[in-house]
Amino acid sequence: MPGVPILMYHSVRADPPPETRGLSVDPGMFAAQLGLLRERGFTPVPLSALAGLRAAPGSGPYAGAAKPICITFDDGYADFHTEALPVLESFGYPATVFVTTGWLDDAGPDAAGRPLDAMLTWAHVKEIVEHGVEVGAHSHSHPQLDQLPDGALHDELTRSRLLLEDRLQRPVTTMAYPYGYSSARVRRAVARAGYSSAYVVANDVARERSGYTIPRLTVARGTSLDTFGRIAEGTHGFFREKALTKGYALVRRSRYLYRKTTHHG
Ligand SMILES: [Zn+2]
Repeated sequence: MPGVPILMYHSVRADPPPETRGLSVDPGMFAAQLGLLRERGFTPVPLSALAGLRAAPGSGPYAGAAKPICITFDDGYADFHTEALPVLESFGYPATVFVTTGWLDDAGPDAAGRPLDAMLTWAHVKEIVEHGVEVGAHSHSHPQLDQLPDGALHDELTRSRLLLEDRLQRPVTTMAYPYGYSSARVRRAVARAGYSSAYVVANDVARERSGYTIPRLTVARGTSLDTFGRIAEGTHGFFREKALTKGYALVRRSRYLYRKTTHHG
């Protein structure tokens, strides 16, 4: 089975603040991208279906799905609820949101880190789950995990998972690394913290469907519809390289802004 592209979005809004502008996709462009997926015969599948597609390609609700592709969102911006979800639902497409629990709008005593824009509330998170959206963890305060000592690293990984499981009353077994990268030590800690899979940002489609370095593809504000098509089809060659390098730069810039404005460690 060929690799499955896993798209990584952040926010979807018309007028984002400077902190998220590079990684925020215009709502009209988002709808056009989903339209392109439909036009080209893709089948957006939930992340949870990936392992099943590999283990038993002939069974399950997505068996034999033509051109499977996954749609994911990092951080948990409020505009997922107001902008992205209505468009996803109009297409009937599944999605996964990786939530930074300490950033949520009503995190209260659990508030941690410094969100880059308006974030979802817990009520929103529950509501999107009721609408069939899958939720994974994305750390508690969005630190650079590889820079944390073991104790703080373990706390970041378990606190986000336990908060989500407690509020949503369902197991949370996947996570995406803040800033898209990890080290071997971080990956071991993720496994110990009870996750069965974890997602990175990488210049590739996902050929492995489980494990702790499953690659995802960046969709940014500067991604043209043409480039998006190439990313989804895996036929974009040089363009893919360029788009993803740009994605990395944007992620690094967000990290820089984050470090500049917060104290953690
Ligand atoms: Zn993030």
